[in-house]
Amino acid sequence: MGDELRLTVLGARGSVPISGQQYDIFGGATSSYLIEAGEHAIFLDAGNGIINSPPVDEDKNITILMSHTHLDHIIGLPFFPELSKKDRYIDFYGADIEGHSIAKLIEEAFSEPYWPLTIGAYPSNFHYRQLKLPMTLGDDIEITGVKLRHPGGCIGFGISYKGKRIVYLTDYEMLDEPDEEVVEFSKDADLLLCDAQYLDEEFASKKGFGHSTISKALSLFKMTGAGQMLLVHHDPKRSDEELMKLEKTIELPNVRFARQGESVVL
Ligand SMILES: [Zn+2]
Ligand SMILES: [Zn+2]
Repeated sequence: MGDELRLTVLGARGSVPISGQQYDIFGGATSSYLIEAGEHAIFLDAGNGIINSPPVDEDKNITILMSHTHLDHIIGLPFFPELSKKDRYIDFYGADIEGHSIAKLIEEAFSEPYWPLTIGAYPSNFHYRQLKLPMTLGDDIEITGVKLRHPGGCIGFGISYKGKRIVYLTDYEMLDEPDEEVVEFSKDADLLLCDAQYLDEEFASKKGFGHSTISKALSLFKMTGAGQMLLVHHDPKRSDEELMKLEKTIELPNVRFARQGESVVL
C-alpha cells in the first residue's frame, strides 16, 4: 500500500465535454487524472473530470499540475469539490505563458463577466505556484517535465515514486516521427499516457491543431519500452462503439483507450 503509485482517470475526453449514452464507457469529461502516492494526491489538469474526484483524505497534500491552460483543461476547476472545503490547502502549479503568471491567467479566466467568483475567493486555502521543473514533493516524489508541440505550448509530466514512473503526454502533436527528447523523457515509464485524438485519415485536415494520431502514439510507445499505455484526449465525437472497434485493431496487449473511472495501480 505504502509503495503503491495509483492513477485514476477522472476524465480523458479531448477538447470539449460531451454527454450521451454513446459515451458511457470511455466518458465525456475532459482531461483530469488523479495520482495517489504516499501522503500525496496529485491532480494532472483540471478539466471537468476533476469534478469526479473522490473525497481526498484530510491528511493528504493536494497538488494540481497544469499542462497548459486551454479551456478543456481548466473548466472543472470552479467545481473541484476540495476547493469549497474551508482550510483545505491546495498547491496549484502552472508555467508562465507569454509573461503572464499562472495566477493572473486563471484569476482572469474565472472572473466577471465570465464567472462570478475568482478561484482565490473560494473557501479553500488555495496557492498559485510557478511551475519550475524538476521539483520534488515530500521526500520521495520527483516531478520532471518536457515541452510538447501544441499551440501556445504544453508541458508533459513525469511523476516518479519509489522506483515507479508515470509519464503524461496530453495535447502533443507528433510530426512524422516522435520527437527524440520526448522519447528519451518517456523511456521505461511504467505507465505512459499519450494524446491519440485522431485517425491517420483525419490528420491531414487537423495538422497544427496540436494532437497526435493513434498510430503515432503506438510508434512512440514502441520506442520507449514503457510498460503500458493509455491513449487519451479522445476526439469529442468518437463513440464507445468506435473506440472499442479501434481498440481491437491495436495488436499490443498493454495499450488501450483510457476509460473514465478506471484506476491503474503500479
Ligand atoms: Zn486539450
Ligand atoms: Zn490544448
